[in-house]
This record gives sequence, structure tokens and C-alpha cells, in this order.
Amino acid sequence: MTRTAQYDPTRLQDIIEAATVLRNGGCVAFPTETVFGLGVDATNSIAVQRAFAAKGRPSDNPLIVHLHTPSQMDLYCHSISEVAYKLIDRFCPGPLTIVLPRRDSIATSVTAGLETVAIRFPKHEVAQALLREINLPIAAPSANLSGRPSATTWQAVIEDLDGRIDGVVCGEPCEIGIESTVVDVTRELPTVLRCGGVTLEQLREVIPEVAMHDQQIDSSVNSPGLRHRHYQPTAKVVLINSATEIDRATKTFDNDLRCGYLGIEKIPGAIASKLTHICYCDNEADYANSLFRFFRECDNLEVQLILCQGVDDTGLGRALMDRIRRASCV
Ligand code: AMP
Ligand code: MG
Repeated sequence: MTRTAQYDPTRLQDIIEAATVLRNGGCVAFPTETVFGLGVDATNSIAVQRAFAAKGRPSDNPLIVHLHTPSQMDLYCHSISEVAYKLIDRFCPGPLTIVLPRRDSIATSVTAGLETVAIRFPKHEVAQALLREINLPIAAPSANLSGRPSATTWQAVIEDLDGRIDGVVCGEPCEIGIESTVVDVTRELPTVLRCGGVTLEQLREVIPEVAMHDQQIDSSVNSPGLRHRHYQPTAKVVLINSATEIDRATKTFDNDLRCGYLGIEKIPGAIASKLTHICYCDNEADYANSLFRFFRECDNLEVQLILCQGVDDTGLGRALMDRIRRASCV
């Protein structure tokens, strides 16, 4: 593959070109409000296999299908329940993905052989313009090499995938910075499979009985992506819960260790002066928005150890803690 083309989202001609590449079976990354997606035509199994190959993604990890309007749904899924419509009315377009029974129009490689398909309606206007122009379902995994932190800027997409994909629609960094919330509505109780941009509390305002998937307890939930290594920078990630722990963690370093800190709480000056890279966040939304970018910045600075401050497992903090825990898995 030749070098990856860069499309300017403010030029209609560029959106049309990106859509043409997608329609012809190419792979084009594009911004959404969560993270950048690596788009391919979800009805074209060869194109879908290209996306798996470009990312090095295990073939048992299904992809999310992106649509521009709920009126397209009947073509790609069926048995759309009242719960599904309630969620769509309240949260779509936006950072919510809904798992529904699939139709055969979606390539089987998209769903990794499952009888369900994950559907999302992104809110980002560039994503919407592209989806409207192509008028096909676009399967789009996060636009990063498999296992690496998701890409929240087009530069991060290039960092991982230059020469491996046909193009990237550029534009501003993603507004939310972590992935969508995935809810399976095909189960007896609607179940959150992955926390993300829509919080459990927000979901329960609409569907009070929404359950939270616990991988440890419930191995029957079929979201294969949850099994794989995820979100990991080259540096080792360690979750810390207080400034005292930072103190303890840094005492065990030898002085040459390059270390980074990301969190809301400020750390004592004496410790801060020993660190290579520090990012203080204003609140949890800012923290979520900074997480993947910070991981990548640390890798570029050859940081070896990243300390992430823990936050409460509520609201957006639940998605944030999920990402930090997975990033810190060895
Ligand atoms: P990513 O593309 O990296 O954002 O990951 C997509 C996530 O959606 C993974 O955790 C997948 O396991 C999940 N997913 C996609 N399709 C399905 C499906 N049909 N059923 C359950 N989970 C799904
Ligand atoms: Mg991903």
C-alpha cells in the first residue's frame, strides 16, 4: 500500500473522495466524538478483512457498525425492541453502541461469527457527513494498532497506521477521547458490556433495569473484545490511589527511571521534579479526554512508568478506571 492520504474535512471534495475509497473497498480512518474509527464497508468481507489486517486485530473481536440514521437499521439488524428504541431516542446520535440481532447483509467477519451486530450513530459532524455521503454501513474499529491506546487525533492514527490504510480524514482532536458505551439489548436484562461516553447512571435514567456486565462473575456474555489486551502504551502503567502511594512508588525507582503522572490531584513538588512528564486534569471528563493522548506522549518521550491516579468508579470515572485497569494489565 502507498502512503496514507490525508483528507481535509472542511472540503466537500475530500469527503466525497474518502467516501469513494470506502465504497471501493478501501480503509479510511475518520474522527468521531469518541475516538478515531478505521472505516470499511461492512457489507464487503474483503474490505473488512483489510481493517483487521491493518490493525493486527484478532479475528474473534467483532467490529462496531456505524450508521447515519436509525431509518437504516432495518437493513442490517432485526427484532429491534422497545428498550433499543428508548436508548436510541435518548442517546443517539452519540457515544452509545447497541447490540442487536444481525441480518445477513452485514459481512460475517464484522461480527466475528456472532448472531448479533453492534450498531452506533456517531454525532461528530464529519463522521455524519461521510456516512451520509457513502450511505452504506461502515464497520469501524478504533483506528490504532491492536492493543495500543486508541487514537484521539489524526496524528496518532498516522503514527500507528501510516502506509497500512488508504486514508485518514483529519480535523480536530476527539471531544470525548474514550470509546462508546456498548449495551447488549438481546439479553433478558439489557447489559452494559463496555463502559464509555454514556454513563451507567444516564442509562438507568431511561432503562432502570440496565445491568452491568462483570467479566469475573459472568463469563456467558459474548463480547469477545473484552478478552484481549487493550489500550496499552509501551510504558508500564500503574494505578495509584493517593499522593502517599506516589511517594512510595517513586521511592522504589532508581533515579534514571523516566516516569510520568496523569491525574486530577496535584503531587508534591519534590516528587514532581523527578518526573519526565506530568498532566493535571481539571475533572473526570478532562481526564478521560487526556488519557490516550498522554499514554502516546509518554511513549514518544521514552517514559518507562506511567502513574495514573485512581478515581471513583461512578459516572465517567467507571469508563476511565476500566481503561486504566486494562492498560495496567501485564
Ligand atoms: P473497538 O472497535 O476497539 O471500539 O471495540 C469494539 C467493542 O465492541 C469490542 O469490545 C467488541 O467486543 C464489542 N462488540 C462489537 N460487536 C459486538 C457484538 N456483536 N456483541 C458484543 N460485543 C460486540
Ligand atoms: Mg479498540
